[in-house]
Amino acid sequence: GKILVTGASGYIAVWVVKALLDRGFAVRGTVRSDVKGAQLQEIFNEYGDRFEFVIVADIAKEGAFDEAVKDVDAIAHTASPFSMNAVEPDELIVPAVNGTTGLLASARQFGTNVKRVVLTSSGTAIASPTADPRTVNESDWNETAVREVREKDREASPIEKYRASKTLAERAAWEWYDAHKTKLRWDMVVLNPTFVIGPWMHPVDKVENLNESLSVYYAVVLKGRMSHEMLVNTGTSWVDVRDVAEAHVLALLKPEAGGERIVVTSGPFKWQDLILAARRVEGDGMPMGNTSYDPSKAIHCVCYSTEREERILGIKHRTLDETTRDSLRAFHSKGWL
Ligand code: NDP
Repeated sequence: GKILVTGASGYIAVWVVKALLDRGFAVRGTVRSDVKGAQLQEIFNEYGDRFEFVIVADIAKEGAFDEAVKDVDAIAHTASPFSMNAVEPDELIVPAVNGTTGLLASARQFGTNVKRVVLTSSGTAIASPTADPRTVNESDWNETAVREVREKDREASPIEKYRASKTLAERAAWEWYDAHKTKLRWDMVVLNPTFVIGPWMHPVDKVENLNESLSVYYAVVLKGRMSHEMLVNTGTSWVDVRDVAEAHVLALLKPEAGGERIVVTSGPFKWQDLILAARRVEGDGMPMGNTSYDPSKAIHCVCYSTEREERILGIKHRTLDETTRDSLRAFHSKGWL
């Protein structure tokens, strides 16, 4: 079979493409330019013509995916802007929402072979970290981010603009799906990965151009650019990019995933936990961070329930030390560490 992966040049998407090719599928990736397509073709050279790309320059445009969905058996939709540079919230919200509902509409109309659509939403569509510790699950929605953006508009914090875009895009997807599902040939699965780290395979020419989650990881963990107070008091939940890719494959293949929203996470962290892991792997040359930290006393602001992931996907997650080791290796290979 052939799987369409949107935003195929992205950090997560390249691992999704690789995981699918390794399972014997053919993959059609959408990219924004010929240059990115050619780079991917080089990365996946060994798979021959099982990898192909098509250009979708603007995912927000009506009918953007009409051609791309033809003749594919399933779709993984990962394309969505993940950036802290938006001034207007709509710079993120419009492509996130219209890209998603547009893809679903194209799949309905032109995806005659499509059996399943997997959407890459986010843990941020479920909750923003708040001061009161709590455990959230797939019935929760990030109302905080949506409210902040409605109230403050362009003055909202960059991360809340992004979180609102993911929340609104996923909500629009479920509304669309509920309205159409009795007439569809396919079903939908939504994955909600938390903060993603791990090595990268997509082309990155300089450290400033890493994707958003690795940029934050680089700044905080490898360069020590966070206050000691925040290092021990803030954090979210992490997951390895290769485990996220595996989740996409399983979400495409497992019949029982149909119609589900599924958190994908390895567990909560404080930033100092990631610093400690980097020091275990790399030694004393790494930033020390806050030496007064006691991991056994950490109170995690948002914990995600893993019950559904375990029941439906059953992924064996990598450990933080393995993820850290492979991430640092990737930084070393570029000379950025
Ligand atoms: P990347 O920025 O590496 O990937 C984003 C992808 O979307 C890229 O291929 C990018 O294309 C494409 N894209 C973005 N905006 C547009 C647009 N307006 N039109 C066309 N294509 C666009 O980030 P990630 O791999 O980290 O993110 C992939 C997905 O996973 C996103 O949906 C993100 O929200 C989600 N996610 C990420 C998490 C993380 O911690 N990294 C956590 C949870 C969810 P181009 O390469 O040309 O820029």
